[in-house]
Amino acid sequence: MTDLVNSAPEVWRGVEHLPDAEALRAFLAEHGLAGSTSAPRPVGDADLAPVHALRTRLRPLVEGSDPEHRIAEAGALTAALAGITLADGWAGTVPDDVPVADLLGVVAGVGLLAVQLHLGPERFRPCSSDTCEGVFIDTSRPGRRRYCMPGQCGNRANVAAHRARRRAAGTG
Ligand SMILES: [Zn+2]
Repeated sequence: MTDLVNSAPEVWRGVEHLPDAEALRAFLAEHGLAGSTSAPRPVGDADLAPVHALRTRLRPLVEGSDPEHRIAEAGALTAALAGITLADGWAGTVPDDVPVADLLGVVAGVGLLAVQLHLGPERFRPCSSDTCEGVFIDTSRPGRRRYCMPGQCGNRANVAAHRARRRAAGTG
């Protein structure tokens, strides 16, 4: 879900990371939601707008600090698949005629509820990097994660801090 929200152009200086059906298909495959290899889930251009809309709807739920709003929205998202049994693994249990955005909405809704109930509302955060617009959900055990992409944003923040120190010291 964090990956979906952070695929938005606002996180990448205007570059859309889910620009077409091909990218969406790859995204689903990466997250085990593409169906089986013999019967891949159908994904088309028509799925893009609803998925982008879902992403926009999810961002404040990941970033925001209103737990009650988050629970209400998560409940609404999961309602899209009322009656479907979610056994181990999503892909095999959700019929192909369920739109991709609804599938992602349910996965996101369940994830939001699980984290909020088991780990607590303080696990939803914006990225600590000054130069990153990403948001993330900290599911680590200690719960002290600061960056949406620890490898990238952490390094970027360190480099920026280093430059600032050099400037302050007059050596930059
Ligand atoms: Zn970040």
